[in-house]
Amino acid sequence: MERNLAHVVLLSGGADSATVLGIAAAKVAAEREAGRTSKLIAFHCNYGQITEMRELSCFRSLCEHYMIPNEHRYVVDIGFLKQIGGSSLTDASVAVESDGDAIVNARVPTSYVPFRNGNLLSIAAAVAAKHDATDIWCGVVDEDASGYPDCRPAFIEFMEAAINAGLPDGHDIVINAPLINAKKDQIIQAGNEMSVPYELTWSCYQGDQEACGVCDSCRLRVASFLKLGLDDPIKYKDYEAAKVAAQVAMPS
Ligand SMILES: [Zn+2]
Repeated sequence: MERNLAHVVLLSGGADSATVLGIAAAKVAAEREAGRTSKLIAFHCNYGQITEMRELSCFRSLCEHYMIPNEHRYVVDIGFLKQIGGSSLTDASVAVESDGDAIVNARVPTSYVPFRNGNLLSIAAAVAAKHDATDIWCGVVDEDASGYPDCRPAFIEFMEAAINAGLPDGHDIVINAPLINAKKDQIIQAGNEMSVPYELTWSCYQGDQEACGVCDSCRLRVASFLKLGLDDPIKYKDYEAAKVAAQVAMPS
C-alpha cells in the first residue's frame, strides 16, 4: 500500500523556519494536486528564551497563514533548556552579542543554546513517528549565519540515521534542511518569490515588541533585506540606525 505523506516542520517563528514552511507547504500542495494524501504539521518549542511569547505568536500567525489545522500544531515546552542555561537566549547573565565578532571570526556565539537542535529534532521525531511522517523540515543554516555546531550538515545526517534506526521498518523519515548551505539574503529572496509573510516572523534575540536592530540576528536580517533593496516589514526600535548597524562588520 502506498504510504500517506506527512511533513513535520520545525517552526520557531523566525525568518528561516518560515521560509522552510513555505517550501514544505508548496511541496504538500503539489502532492495533493497529484492526488496523494499529504499532511502539513507544524512543531514549536518554548524553552524559556527571552522572546518566547513573541515567537509563539509568530508560530500561531504562520500556522493561520498556511491553514494548518489545530490538530496538526504542536507546541511543546522544553523549559529544561533554560534550567540548563549557558546561552544568552536563556540566561540574562550572558550578554547578547551585537558586534558581529562571532560571525566574522566563525566562533560559536553566546546565543548558541547547548544542543538545542539535537533536542528539537528528537522531539520532532516523536511527533513524526506518531503521524508516520515521511519528512521532517528544519531551517538550519550552516554557512552564513549561525556558527552553531548543531547546524552542521554532518550532524543533520547523523540525526536522520539515528532517528531511522529507532523507527519500525518501512517508516523511514527524511530530514530536509533546504537552507543549510544558503546565505541569509538568498533565503529572504527565495522566500519573497514564494510570498513568505516575513511580517509574521521574528528574529531579534532580545526585543519582544520592537526588534532591537543591533543584536547579531537583527543585523544579519536587516543586512539581507538591504542587500535585496527591500525594507524589512517588522517593527524596529530605530530602523534607520539598524540599517547603519547592519553594514558594519558583517560578512560580505
Ligand atoms: Zn535584535
